[in-house]
Amino acid sequence: MSKLDQVVKDIVAEMQERSDRGEVATYIPELAGVDPKAFGLAVIDADGQLACGGDCDTSFSIQSISKVFTLTFALGMIGDRLWRRVGREPSGSPFNSIVQLERERGIPRNPFINAGAIVVTDLILSGHQPREALGEILRFLQFLADDSSITIDAAVAASENRTGFRNRALANYMKSFSVLENPVDFTLGVYFHHCAIAMSCRQLAMAGRFLAHHGRNPSTGLLVVQPERARRINAIMLTCGHYDGSGEFAYRVGLPGKSGVGGGILAIAPGRASIAVWSPGLDAAGNSHLGRLALEELTKRMGWSIFGGN
Ligand code: GLU
Repeated sequence: MSKLDQVVKDIVAEMQERSDRGEVATYIPELAGVDPKAFGLAVIDADGQLACGGDCDTSFSIQSISKVFTLTFALGMIGDRLWRRVGREPSGSPFNSIVQLERERGIPRNPFINAGAIVVTDLILSGHQPREALGEILRFLQFLADDSSITIDAAVAASENRTGFRNRALANYMKSFSVLENPVDFTLGVYFHHCAIAMSCRQLAMAGRFLAHHGRNPSTGLLVVQPERARRINAIMLTCGHYDGSGEFAYRVGLPGKSGVGGGILAIAPGRASIAVWSPGLDAAGNSHLGRLALEELTKRMGWSIFGGN
């Protein structure tokens, strides 16, 4: 058994035993019923070797992790012009905060807070029907993960559509500054659906490989994005990937990462591995409690923090 296999096995066993699991998100009613005891971890190294354990093949709602892929896709469509409509500074605010938007005239701080991700979705939607835009996003994920079985959980999307009052407020507010081009309901429809994409840890780790390997899928050798773009997306994941818990995540884990309220985290060890972890219970900032602890242990034991040491 390789060192990585052993480390993953140990961490999964340790996390499954813990009783401190955080709180499952309930503001999207469909997510409230997810088993808080679930825990999965998948790591794919530079040679394509997979180490995984626990519920690593169970699908969960990727929620905000989709924002990494919509950002990548939108940059591919319009390049750096994207940064005219959204910033790239940490927000220091909760994921659904509206206060900064007023001070900053409808321009969201970064593409990973809800407001910023709604703008990115609006960019992808322009010139398309909502169904086409959603199809493009889903096919991009299927391509990255090399898995055409990835789908959208329609019940989760409908649940968020019914209760997404905050996101409606954010979108309408930005629309008042003409930051959104499309009808608010169209943009939000696409946004809610891409957040409702369901994937397993294994599929998610597969989809993240290009970020760990200078923009290239290491198994096929195909360049997904230029190395410079992969580096920059990783930088935004490091500084903005965990809302107002981003500093704490960098301090404890030391890897670029993106969390979602479904309890998943995609983390990138540049040059080394793509990692996905899932545990539905969240901490106060809305990030997976055990997911973060597991990643902290993984980087320590493997010596993978981008800041060196362990
Ligand atoms: N769809 C969720 C929302 O907009 C995503 C939030 C998250 O995962 O952080 O509220």
